[in-house]
Amino acid sequence: MFAQFALHERLLKALDSLSFTEPTAVQAAAIPKALEGRDLRVTAQTGSGKTAAFLLPLLHRLLAEEKPKSGARALILLPTRELAQQTLKEVERFAQFTFIKACLITGGEDFKVQGARLRKNPEIIIGTPGRLNEQFNAGNLPLNDVEVLVLDEADRMLDMGFSEDVLKLAAQCPAQRQTLLFSATTGSGLREMIETVLREPEHLLLNQVSELNEEVSQQVVLVDEGEHKEAVLFWLLQNETYEKAIVFTNTRVQADRLTGRLIAAGHKVFVLHGEKDQKDRKLAIERLKQGAVKILVATDVAARGLDVDGLDLVINYDMPRKGDEYVHRIGRTGRAGAAGVAISLVAHTDWNLMSSIERYLKLRFEQRVIPGLKASYKGPKKVKASGKAAGTKKKKTDAGKKAGAKPAAKRKPAAKPKAPLASSDGMAPLKRKKPAAE
Ligand code: AMP
Repeated sequence: MFAQFALHERLLKALDSLSFTEPTAVQAAAIPKALEGRDLRVTAQTGSGKTAAFLLPLLHRLLAEEKPKSGARALILLPTRELAQQTLKEVERFAQFTFIKACLITGGEDFKVQGARLRKNPEIIIGTPGRLNEQFNAGNLPLNDVEVLVLDEADRMLDMGFSEDVLKLAAQCPAQRQTLLFSATTGSGLREMIETVLREPEHLLLNQVSELNEEVSQQVVLVDEGEHKEAVLFWLLQNETYEKAIVFTNTRVQADRLTGRLIAAGHKVFVLHGEKDQKDRKLAIERLKQGAVKILVATDVAARGLDVDGLDLVINYDMPRKGDEYVHRIGRTGRAGAAGVAISLVAHTDWNLMSSIERYLKLRFEQRVIPGLKASYKGPKKVKASGKAAGTKKKKTDAGKKAGAKPAAKRKPAAKPKAPLASSDGMAPLKRKKPAAE
């Protein structure tokens, strides 16, 4: 019960009105510690309820002592506009019975309009690091009164090249502030950020990235690149039972191309990627939420934070290049324990990637063959078991030998993953030097 946390009564009232009764695991672990005022580093995947885990103690703190004359009292940094918008919505829901106001500062919006928003002196500022730094440099972002700094999806901010911006903004906040850092992975890349920004943090290690929702069935379909792959996608969108689907590609060009093909085939589709302007991205998500379109084609920009009810089919048209990226994509379905299906299309060039994602997640994908659309590619004839792959022992049943086998168990019993997870799959992380479009 949320009442056990001694949260401010107006927050409890809001939780009640939202029918939030039981805290999730990450909330149960993080809320009491955050209320004590200490710095936290929390490893928890998206969809775990992490937003409320930092927002509730943050709002409690602001409500416990009103400071009408102070500047912004909380700064929330996160990697994408979509996540920023969803976080703002959560603030508005939880703070509905309070005086607290929040504002959004992300890339792709009018700079001056944002300046005017900041002059209204909201208690909470939510935004992406690149634009926030620009606003800071323009003298529009007062950080002297920040009491709580949140770094949400810190691993993703790092991947997107925002590390320097995050460190700069953190350095402008008062040293005695509280800092709460959330990430889905435990990779060593975050070390500098953790050491520089947090003070003697407690590490709460919750449902890590490799612990997928067991209600989501993980399937692969072997394909041949080109027409066959497209035909399989069309078949799935036509024949699977689903309420809403998201199709992931690795590039914007591919997303646009595929969208065109699907529209030409009579599907109602929206596309979401970093080159789309803010208005189009918002529209795409709204249409999907309302059910006006059933299919969204997206790059990984959409994989983080997107929270759409009824999204029960995820198709990886292109295989993600990292295990945790796979988890983030798949995390768009089966939210809050609901059921879903994730289907990855695997061509011969993807096989090794697929195997390493299996090792990373400690699961075996279920192989499916689409009637009448059997690929000429049947999987590798012979794959040497590699005992060297970090975190895996040499097993008799390596992925290659399973190629023609019957569908395997969806998920092996949860062997505890060994840290650092992010590098245990031996795959090259997708690092970008320059910040991506926010
Ligand atoms: P998040 O991981 O913060 O993106 O949350 C995932 C979804 O679960 C969001 O739609 C939240 O509003 C919802 N949620 C979070 N905590 C709870 C809770 N304790 N009870 C019910 N729903 C929740």
